[in-house]
Amino acid sequence: MKMSKLFLPTLFEEPHEAELISHKLMLRAGLIRRLASGVYSYLPLGYRVLTKVSRIVEEEMDAIGGQQLLLPALHPKELWEETGRWQAYGPDMFKLSDRRNRDFGLGPTHEEIITDLVRSEVRSYRQLPLLLYQIQTKFRDEIRPRFGLMRAREFQMKDGYSFDADQERADKTYELVYQAYGKIFSRCGLSFRAVEAESGLIGGSASHEFMVPAEAGEDLMALCSSCDYAANLERAECGEPSDKHQRGELSELSLVDTPGMKRVDEVSRFLNVKPEQLVKTLIYKAGDEVVAALILGHQELNESKLARTIGRAEPELADPETISSVTGAPAGFAGPIGLTGIKIIADNSIKGQFNLVTGGNKADAHYIGANYDRDFQVDVWADIKVVQENDSCPRCPEQLEIHRGIEVGHVFKLGTKYSQAMGAVFVDEDGQEKPFIMDTFGIGVSRIIGAVIETSHDENGIIWPMAIAPYQVIVVPINVHDEEQWDLSLKIYQMLQAEGIEVLLDDRDERPGRKFTDSELIGIPIRIVIGNKTKKTGQIEISIRRTGEKRFVPLEDLSSEIKGLVAVFRNQVS
Ligand code: ATP
Ligand code: MG
Repeated sequence: MKMSKLFLPTLFEEPHEAELISHKLMLRAGLIRRLASGVYSYLPLGYRVLTKVSRIVEEEMDAIGGQQLLLPALHPKELWEETGRWQAYGPDMFKLSDRRNRDFGLGPTHEEIITDLVRSEVRSYRQLPLLLYQIQTKFRDEIRPRFGLMRAREFQMKDGYSFDADQERADKTYELVYQAYGKIFSRCGLSFRAVEAESGLIGGSASHEFMVPAEAGEDLMALCSSCDYAANLERAECGEPSDKHQRGELSELSLVDTPGMKRVDEVSRFLNVKPEQLVKTLIYKAGDEVVAALILGHQELNESKLARTIGRAEPELADPETISSVTGAPAGFAGPIGLTGIKIIADNSIKGQFNLVTGGNKADAHYIGANYDRDFQVDVWADIKVVQENDSCPRCPEQLEIHRGIEVGHVFKLGTKYSQAMGAVFVDEDGQEKPFIMDTFGIGVSRIIGAVIETSHDENGIIWPMAIAPYQVIVVPINVHDEEQWDLSLKIYQMLQAEGIEVLLDDRDERPGRKFTDSELIGIPIRIVIGNKTKKTGQIEISIRRTGEKRFVPLEDLSSEIKGLVAVFRNQVS
């Protein structure tokens, strides 16, 4: 491709609309343009990258027996009502109606659609397993669309769904896809961690997210400093604190006035104690059950862990009326002392603490010198807090670290959640009708582009991994009016093209500085410069974008040198 013909509107200036470096570079390098909040056009260079990422996804999915199809983006409401998700998915789904007033949603994900297809077409265990996937535009009315392609409202996703006859085989499919995902991200030049993810009450480690470690990531993950334990913070567990039962001398319990002091920071300042010495008593409602959840003042409650502990979905903080009816005090003064009639669940970290401050179950009062066992009882000890830096690892004696990450993929064991709700059954070997066992697998195909740039750039621009670079080589004649330079550049351009190399020729009548800046901004992995020196020395200058390394090779060796570089770098993770 000749640069003079390429639709490549690069920008010198920092675009105002972008916060993240990857977003800025995508705009500056002419990969994308914004149409509306979270809605982007892919310009030719961006589309080439998207196509390459998609191709890698397709190759790895096909290699494990996946079959690509394409499902509609327009979803009839009735299908989503069968699973209750028309309501439950909420305002994230774009909804519209047709001229006959029938309701539709724009697909944010396709479990209902694929399950409907399979229930109508697949009858027998002989037709299983099935691993179906698509790469398609998804629509989600995100609350905060931002970071360009990273959190968009219209974006490209690879979504896959598997149908197996039993759990054992479904687990094998899960494992296959898990491995394929690793290959996909590596081939795209990403380093990643697969972390345990929250899967609601389905339980186990039935879900993993693939995270690219990056400061710009919107997700937090807990990683063990020693073993391979890795979990999304929503899911992360911790081991019991090692200093438990090391309590010192217990002081006397007394009730003190704390007028109007409800929040941890207010009480700790007023009583001059550290937040770590306070017990937060949170009253939760789950269905018809009310429970008290105790954590320390500097901790946060992890509602998913609380849900698993009490075995009920979606516990919610209780309303003020419920709080005052169970504690006898207005909200802000709940505490475990004298609290009866509801189950008290306490985080394990409270066990070894002593002389604590707790709510007084009385307006404007707190207890000081509160001690477990002597002053209050606990029904269930559990791990219910959000893990913090340096908490102990649940798998080994070492500590956890908290890191930020970009979620690029997600694999999830669904079991029979959708097949049961939608009556999707097959006849098994034993003649029995059974619901399909399903897994669901997603990759943020367009988000990958953002994640790659976020983790692979320098002050001059993007550094594309070879496998997804829009072009592999750029040929830059210093002076296009110099006949010898031009002829040689054209010859090299044609020669490399004939070898199947994807090559750009910067035939623009621009100053060399501008050409170099552009080639670095758009991140082409290999640059060939043709100038006066080339004539004199007979050596062609090749430079490598990632390392800045320069090589000089005679013309007759150029093709093989370039082919070698393309092959080497294609297999390299950035
Ligand atoms: P997130 O927590 O980031 O919103 P999610 O859990 O909603 O992601 P899934 O429903 O599992 O995401 O979708 C599969 C993949 O699609 C995600 O792993 C992510 O890479 C990508 N993805 C999700 N939402 C967006 C978005 N708004 N823009 C771009 N990619 C997205
Ligand atoms: Mg989301």
